[in-house]
Order: sequence, then structure tokens, then C-alpha cells
Amino acid sequence: MTQMITPQPGIMEIALYQGGAAHVAGHDNALKLSSNENPFGPSEAALQAYRRAGFDLHRYPSADHAELRTAIADIYGFEADRIICGAGSDEIIAFLCQAYAGPGTEVIHTEHGFAMYRISALAAGATPVEVRERERVTDIDAILAACSDKTRLVFIANPNNPTGTMIGAPELARLADKLPAQALLVLDGAYAEYVDGYDGGAALVKSRENIVMTRTFSKIYGLGGLRVGWGYGPAAVIDVLNRVRGPFNVSNAALAAAEAAVRDVAYTDYCRAENARLRGWMADALAEIGVPSDVSCANFILARFASQQEAEACDMHLQSQGLIVRRVAGYKLPTCLRITVGDESGCRRVVHAVRQFKGA
Ligand SMILES: *Cc1c(COP(=O)(O)O)cnc(C)c1O
Repeated sequence: MTQMITPQPGIMEIALYQGGAAHVAGHDNALKLSSNENPFGPSEAALQAYRRAGFDLHRYPSADHAELRTAIADIYGFEADRIICGAGSDEIIAFLCQAYAGPGTEVIHTEHGFAMYRISALAAGATPVEVRERERVTDIDAILAACSDKTRLVFIANPNNPTGTMIGAPELARLADKLPAQALLVLDGAYAEYVDGYDGGAALVKSRENIVMTRTFSKIYGLGGLRVGWGYGPAAVIDVLNRVRGPFNVSNAALAAAEAAVRDVAYTDYCRAENARLRGWMADALAEIGVPSDVSCANFILARFASQQEAEACDMHLQSQGLIVRRVAGYKLPTCLRITVGDESGCRRVVHAVRQFKGA
């Protein structure tokens, strides 16, 4: 008998997401710099809130996330009723694709854009459309040229992962203003908190009806293991997303820890300042030994090598020293390695090991 049980079209085109490696053979205590995690961990207040949540494990979590949304609204100055929370911003990305894309529609992402855009587009049955970047920077004109009457969503991470580059608010506004009427612009601000004075595109969201911003607690807030993210957008879009959202999609502990984390502004400021300092030091030190990178606006740098062979050999040497960084050939950057900014000793170990490798 022929097999009749088949998944929806597009599903089998999804390549499984490759997370950053966490282990390397022969090292019990390898330093993981492959997933852009906060080297300082979460705020002490978030840890305490998480522990307290242990007393309520028999209770269902809030279905409307009102307390976390209010905290985000207080801190960032947004309207709480235009915020939606998810199990990581990955889930918000999935909701957007599920709600707005589907068979016969197109979802635009950039050449070196985050893998989840393509995965979620395919999972929804839509066609992902990849748009080239200009020297590892998002190219608004190329995106506009790729738009059609089938375009439903345009995903841009700003700053982008894995390039670390970003574009300015005027460029984003120009894109939003020229998009086809049926297309929604998604500004992924996973790294927005690392950019001093940048609102992640929130002002643009406020002034337009066709932009959604996504944010996460996985990066500067150091809560990747708990899975919390959020989106901010036009009331009509948030209403749509809430209809596809499961009522209990974010756990008690995750809601409590995230609320405490977002309210601990002093700790976030500390992490931003330390990241900027160590990122600058590491990028300069690597450039001096012949490993350049674009100016990064995030918590990692994209180190460039002469060839794919050299990048892979350097990765092997780093592994031999117990250092795990990220290969990004899957992001069409085979000659690069993405290195998360660690704490001071982590950054020094990276520079020391790359210097050994280079024989410099
Ligand atoms: C890390 C990252 C996210 C965050 O994903 P979560 O599901 O919130 O952990 C989103 N977008 C980009 C570009 C990222 O690098």
C-alpha cells in the first residue's frame, strides 16, 4: 500500500535548526561562546523570582501575562495592551507566520538573516524569499525590489545575527513606507538592548500600522533557558496573534523571572556597558592579529578569515583550547566564525588562542 500519511507541503524542506554546540570532547568545562548568551547570567532579582515561583508549580500560569506586560510597558514606555508574550521570540515569529503567511504567499528574509524566519515560513506553508545583503548589511532597496503582491511578511533583525551590523531608523521608515499594502514588517530586536539609546524600532511601531517589533529575554536578560520573548505592534495585529497563541504558552516561573529581570534596569545597564567594553577590546585585539570584523552592535563579533579552510582550522584550534564558537557556513558566511562576547577572562582566552593559531 502506498504511504498516505504525509506532512503539509514545505515541512520536509525545513532543515533542523542547529543550536550552538555546548560541549567539546576532552573538556569538562568548555567555555560556550556559540549562542550569544549573557556571560554574567540573569539578574539576582530574576533568580529570586524564579525560585519563589517554585511554590506555585501546581497553579496554571496567567493566561494574559498582564503583570509581565505591565512591567515591560512601565520600563519601555509602551502601551501594555499592544504587547504579546511568547515562549521566546521564536514563538512570536511562528505566530506571525501562522497568522499572516500560508500557501501561495511569500515571506522575505535577508541573505544572512536568522534561521527561524525561513523555518517558520516553511512550517506555515509559505515560500521564503531570500534577499541579498550589501557587504553583510541589510539592503532596503534589494528588499523593496523583492516585494510582490504575494509578500506578507518581511523579517529584519536589527542589529542582525550573525553579522552584528545594523541600519538606522530612517532606512527602516523608508522600507515601511514603501512596502506593499498587504505586507507587515517585522523588526526583530533580539539585540536591541545592547545598542545604547536604540528603541528597537518602537517609535516606528507607534507611528505606523504595518510594523511589529519582537524582543527577547534570552540575550541581555540572560534567560534563554526559560524561553520568554515578546512582541509590540498595532492593536489589530496583537489581537490576531493572541487568537493563535495558546493561553498558557509562558510558564509561571518564566513570567516571574522575566518581570523581575526587566525591572532590574541597573543590571541591564551594567551588562550593556560591559559588553560594549569587552566587545571593543576583543574586536581590536583580533584585528591586530589579522582577523578583522565589521563593527558589531550586538553581543558577538563576526570574525573574518582568509578562507573557509582557515576559519575551520581556527575553530578546531579554539575547540582544542576548550573554546566553543559558532561556524556560520549555514548563514552563507563560510569564511567567518561568530564569537559571543564573554566575560573578561573569556575574551582574553579567545584572543590568546587565536593569536596562537595565527602564530602572531
Ligand atoms: C537569539 C535570537 C532570537 C531570540 O530567540 P528566543 O526565541 O527569544 O530565544 C531572535 N532573533 C534573533 C535574530 C536572535 O539572534
